[in-house]
Amino acid sequence: MFRKIGIEALKQVTKKYARKQNRWVKNRFLSRPGPSAPPVYGLEVSDVSKWEESVLKPALEIVQSFIQGRKPTATPIKMPYNEAENKRSYHKCNICDRIIIGDREWAAHIKSKSHLNQLKKRRRLDSDAVNTMESQSISPDHNKEPKEKGSPEQNDQELKCCI
Ligand SMILES: [Zn+2]
Repeated sequence: MFRKIGIEALKQVTKKYARKQNRWVKNRFLSRPGPSAPPVYGLEVSDVSKWEESVLKPALEIVQSFIQGRKPTATPIKMPYNEAENKRSYHKCNICDRIIIGDREWAAHIKSKSHLNQLKKRRRLDSDAVNTMESQSISPDHNKEPKEKGSPEQNDQELKCCI
């Protein structure tokens, strides 16, 4: 019982740690590669049964070529770098009422939880506003048209559909 809980907890913290490491490598070596950043190689690790052929062997090949001073056959990972990216660009988010500096920061902001929450909130308000406007504009028209008077039930149904 405790053993099982312990194993699960260990798996969880290991996963968390691996994610953290991945993020660190990505930020440190890929997002802002300085002159001292070493090349980073990606290995296909999703299938444990293929560990030797898809992880161990290519990894050893890379290390060996490094030791021998030749270029490895594998190509290092490169983050898609956008030349047009502007680090000081000015973005105003009307939804969050915030100013964001930098294209990358802006891209991150648009995907951020707080922004999406604001967006959701805003959409809900907007759709409420649209609904009230629709029902306001529909009711006078509905009264003006004498032809429709013969079928009040149908009109009611149409109104319901809109709301
Ligand atoms: Zn926003």
